[in-house]
Amino acid sequence: MPIPGQIDPVPVARDITPRADGRIDLMGLSRKRIMELLAEAGLDAKQAKLRAKQVFHWLYHRGVTDFEAMTDIAKSMRPWLTERFVIGRPEVVEAQHSTDGTRKWLLRTADGHDFEMVFIPDADRGTLCVSSQVGCTLNCRFCHTGTMRLVRNLTPGEIVGQVMLARDALGEWPNLTASPRAGGDLRQPGPMPIEAPAFAGAHDLDDDDDVGEYTADGRLLTNIVMMGMGEPLYNFDNVRDALKLVMDGDGLALSKRRITLSTSGVVPMMERCGEEIGVNLAVSLHAVTKDVRDEIVPINKKYGIEELLQACADYPGASNARRITFEYVMLKDKNDSDADARELVRLLKQFKLPAKVNLIPFNPWPGAPYECSTPERIRAFSNLVFEAGISAPVRTPRGRDIDAACGQLKTAAEKKSRAQLDREAASDEA
Ligand code: SAH
Ligand code: SF4
Repeated sequence: MPIPGQIDPVPVARDITPRADGRIDLMGLSRKRIMELLAEAGLDAKQAKLRAKQVFHWLYHRGVTDFEAMTDIAKSMRPWLTERFVIGRPEVVEAQHSTDGTRKWLLRTADGHDFEMVFIPDADRGTLCVSSQVGCTLNCRFCHTGTMRLVRNLTPGEIVGQVMLARDALGEWPNLTASPRAGGDLRQPGPMPIEAPAFAGAHDLDDDDDVGEYTADGRLLTNIVMMGMGEPLYNFDNVRDALKLVMDGDGLALSKRRITLSTSGVVPMMERCGEEIGVNLAVSLHAVTKDVRDEIVPINKKYGIEELLQACADYPGASNARRITFEYVMLKDKNDSDADARELVRLLKQFKLPAKVNLIPFNPWPGAPYECSTPERIRAFSNLVFEAGISAPVRTPRGRDIDAACGQLKTAAEKKSRAQLDREAASDEA
């Protein structure tokens, strides 16, 4: 079996891909890049700088998609901008709502590739699960996304575009009047405060770190996890550029402590992730022996457990106040014994890791080669880790009825093509 990894060049859309009508999409571009484009289009340096600042603010702070709405830009200049630029969003192919409030969107890139985004509301927070690639190169055996081939990396615009779209759908831009949502409108009326107070954590992660710091500000979308389709550290530059926009104080202004990036263990990129992005780290460990991890997370053949844990110990910014999350999917008779739990504790202690463990009940999908551990086994495993002084909550599966749970994101190309095949079969029979 070939060693997985980014051996073949991965197709990446260029940061600027003019639309069919020649206009350029500004979504995903930095303030500096917008300024350069305005200058190239003919504005003098001073004007370009001022307009870039204004446009950036309208884009990311106010969520505006029409230059005509940019009221502090001269009326005569707005058509000039509209002729040359657009403010895009990924196309929504389908939006689904789970009985537990989880929402899933099937999205499409301008060049026709489908990917997914999930929103998970909780009592005290709302987490958006963002995709970084269409498909994945890594083929983890328990992951549905891993059975898709990698189609391409998402661009910064397509990554930050997911956050923009979620805020559109949740009606969370300042001064925007949203349509009332089922289940009640949790937001406060009027403009939304934009500054996000610092606190660590992601969905079901780290509830004990944020005591006293967390206020939702009435907003639904409070946290972001890079846990959708794809391996974010194999699309490092685009993920970094997108998250920088999400964290920019003049724009979406989400604190880095509210963002978590999950990696299957791309060791060479972890230090840069801490230094250049600075978000919380989650690591998909899932096994504690070489044999089992080689089987279920094949990137382990390239970067082994010890090397991975050393990189975690060296992760910039990790501390007892900002612990690393170790994700551990519970697979029946594969990685769920008492001995596995004890070895997990031993390893985390050996590397002196400021760690918490997130136990994820395996979410099955058709044809999956594993089963989920029994609830009793998961409880026993969790207790053993807790008794050693390491927090090990069991994550509640969300959105299972709409296939929105961890590792079920695959619908994209494949389910569509199956539906298409069924339609074709039906019309052949007719
Ligand atoms: N590629 C990154 C991030 C996306 S996957 C990574 O692997 O970390 C997000 C999390 O869901 C990972 O911990 C992944 O291992 C887990 N996951 C994947 N498939 C799953 C499944 N079928 N059931 C439960 N968790 C799963
Ligand atoms: Fe890719 Fe993560 Fe799924 Fe592994 S678990 S195949 S790295 S998306």
